[in-house]
Amino acid sequence: MLACGPITKKEINMSESYQPETLAVRAGIERSQFHEHSEALFLTSSFTFDSAEQAAKRFIGEEPGNIYARFTNPTVTMFEQRLAALEGAEQCVAVASGMAAILATVMALLKSGDHIVASRSLFGATTNTFNNYFKKFGVETTYVSATDVAEWQAAVRPNTKLFFLETPSNPLTEISDIAAIAAVAKSCGALLAVDNCFCTPILQRPLDLGADIVIHSATKYIDGQGRVLGGAVLGSKKLMEPVYGFLRTTGPTMSAFNAWVFLKGLETLKLRMDAHSANALQLAQWLEQQPNVARVFYPGLPSHPQHALAMQQQKTGGGIVAFEVKGGKAAAWRVIDNTRMLSITANLGDTKTTITHPATTTHARISPEARAAAGISDGLIRIAVGLEAVVDIQNDLARGLA
Ligand SMILES: *Cc1c(COP(=O)(O)O)cnc(C)c1O
Repeated sequence: MLACGPITKKEINMSESYQPETLAVRAGIERSQFHEHSEALFLTSSFTFDSAEQAAKRFIGEEPGNIYARFTNPTVTMFEQRLAALEGAEQCVAVASGMAAILATVMALLKSGDHIVASRSLFGATTNTFNNYFKKFGVETTYVSATDVAEWQAAVRPNTKLFFLETPSNPLTEISDIAAIAAVAKSCGALLAVDNCFCTPILQRPLDLGADIVIHSATKYIDGQGRVLGGAVLGSKKLMEPVYGFLRTTGPTMSAFNAWVFLKGLETLKLRMDAHSANALQLAQWLEQQPNVARVFYPGLPSHPQHALAMQQQKTGGGIVAFEVKGGKAAAWRVIDNTRMLSITANLGDTKTTITHPATTTHARISPEARAAAGISDGLIRIAVGLEAVVDIQNDLARGLA
């Protein structure tokens, strides 16, 4: 479907099994006639044909190859092949952003009158897309607990087509049992889509656990250095064919430049996820010792309510730590305003540690009652732990915690 025509030499044969570190640097490479070693950036919006006959064959799909960059671009194709290899997916469709990945999935696979069951703990824009746009076109969503599998079963209707979740959740790092929820979805004839943004395929592979679709905001850890926006949808060839069709027709495609940045990002993903995770664990352990910290939320800590499930489903606890300071909003803002190094921003997945106050930023538009019900207190702080020395991150937080 996405094959980009004559391939000079495949870097590695993907039918053989390779470790993630190897796939991250070598999977998906296609070289041009110039035999470039590093992945080339093809900044071209269209492609030429050798003859009228070849153009005709390309357009009716009789001959594989590039036509126009809304359909395919070799740099984007390399990114798709590399991410597919890492997630263990038959096919990857790259898109302009994480939100475009969710849009393309629902527009391609659902129709008016269909029903979604989704976790209550989703990225804010995801919930807004479901409530404000999909609903307008007759697709309704029922929200259930991220952690209570029985609620997913109970919410199913005859027209349920899609289950949607994100694990660990933002900002409380709740863990959804992917295998158990996938089993419920399967028994009801629904598809399970997992937003794997927080873990990346390095820490968690939802398709191996029974999910049908993986969604990515590549903007976060896959870039890893906060430069560009992008997203991806992954799954079987059969499911990805309509997703690709939607994209090729309506246009929220990934730019070649962004794909090139993401290809380079993937090469260091394993190293970075290991380092983010090690730093996050050390920081979470330190936070638990601080007298002015009431509670720490980190799946890698034995005190996390779903620590056992997290350690079975993920390779590490990941890079996101949340904690509640004693003294509510004033105390939380004091910690944030006393930092000198940490970036006060809601972005995550960057080499630079970021700090945010969910109650007044990412979750500010939700009613105070709904926020309380979701467990997002005024004293809660979220840290996306970067790659600085942990001692420097600790010192930056210690000032406001004293
Ligand atoms: C950021 C994010 C998204 C949206 O991705 P964009 O690239 O910003 O469109 C979706 N899901 C999660 C979990 C995110 O963190």
